[in-house]
Amino acid sequence: MKLPIYLDYNSTTPVDSRVLEKMLPFFSENFGNSASRSHLFGWKAQEAVENAREQVANLINAESKEIVFTSGATESNNLAIKGLFEINYPNKKHIITIQTEHKAVLDVCKHLEKLGVEVTYLQPDYTGLITIEQIKNALRPDTFLISVMYANNEIGTIQPMKKIGELAQEHNILFHTDATQAIGKLEIDVQKDNIDLLSLSGHKLYAPKGIGALFIRKNSRASKLIAQMDGGKHERGFRSGTLNVTGIVGLGEACELAKKELTTDNQRLIMLRNKLESEILQNISDVKVNGNITNRLPNLTNISFGGVDGETLLMSFRDIAVSSGSACTSASVEPSYVLKSIGLSDVMAYASIRFSLGKYTSQAEIDFTIKYVKETVELLR
Ligand code: PMP
Repeated sequence: MKLPIYLDYNSTTPVDSRVLEKMLPFFSENFGNSASRSHLFGWKAQEAVENAREQVANLINAESKEIVFTSGATESNNLAIKGLFEINYPNKKHIITIQTEHKAVLDVCKHLEKLGVEVTYLQPDYTGLITIEQIKNALRPDTFLISVMYANNEIGTIQPMKKIGELAQEHNILFHTDATQAIGKLEIDVQKDNIDLLSLSGHKLYAPKGIGALFIRKNSRASKLIAQMDGGKHERGFRSGTLNVTGIVGLGEACELAKKELTTDNQRLIMLRNKLESEILQNISDVKVNGNITNRLPNLTNISFGGVDGETLLMSFRDIAVSSGSACTSASVEPSYVLKSIGLSDVMAYASIRFSLGKYTSQAEIDFTIKYVKETVELLR
């Protein structure tokens, strides 16, 4: 067993060796530009891109022509929300979202507020869940978008996608979801859940960083959204710029593997996560699990440790790689806004640790972590 132990899979994942293997030829012998129409180099690249598009679409029960490749979930969220703003404003100018979204949604909304958009940020309950009634009560005649994340990156709470999709459809409002943390961890079906737009990112499911996609429902108002990157009209005009063929091939392969292996991976992850969590709860006093115990990602537990200073705790965990708050905002020393919005005090939010497991997490690593966390917390106290 090698130290430190990586338990931060919600931050990013290593590239699966099978994914890397599929990617490698596209760095060298098959280096063509997928937009080159006149020779074999281009055709090979294009074929690989279209194959990957099919693989991504399959994972979420979409059609391949509904998939637009981007640089990741941040870009997908920007494209979805800003692109829809451009076709709706000023006739419709209201967005409904939730306080615990990733900054890649919240900051897009903040930006649009400066341009005249009005945003309702729903407050989740203490487990991180929002209700359909909350969304219903927030609806306005000028609401053009409901954007609710599939599962939260810090606490793992899974939102009621199907019900939100039904409500959105009933009121003829578009429904976007940031599914970055759900993709590859949960079975996702954009048809069943009436999702119009879905953002995903490669590096959370064992594909490389810097590649992602946006699902845009065909023949819907969503498909009228305005591109945010202008140029050579790649991706049917939705996203100009020479395609990241290697990344796309990697994302496609990762999606195919996720589809095949999701169920068995999850059984193992739930078993390991539950062991880690229950042993910490049983063996360390004054600890509490954050999030929704029955409705959360299979690979994650977020735990608050009373009676210790959060920053010192994180720094003391030298042999395990975990995170407090979200790694994406770890440049700031603010307590996690997600934990604060589900009611934790600043002190408890600081003293909360996210353990996120992945397909390379072993039983031995979890056993070590249980012992190590107990010893470290006791020492600090
Ligand atoms: N949304 C969520 C829920 C995330 O967890 C992340 C990554 N931390 C992002 C968006 C941003 O994704 P990317 O790194 O692909 O831009």
